[in-house]
Amino acid sequence: MALKKCKECGQEISTKSERCPHCGAPTARGVGVVGRFLLIILLAIVIFIALACIGII
Ligand SMILES: [Zn+2]
Repeated sequence: MALKKCKECGQEISTKSERCPHCGAPTARGVGVVGRFLLIILLAIVIFIALACIGII
């Protein structure tokens, strides 16, 4: 388990945690989760358009 410094309070926190246990500030990993969620939605839209072009929908 790697540690990194919190950008808000400077305490060492796990790279796996989504927010700092000391001050509660969200980490870069928390942002990454949101980014992945948007990527899945984008992928779903692309698949929907592809299926519509083929004529399944
Ligand atoms: Zn902190």
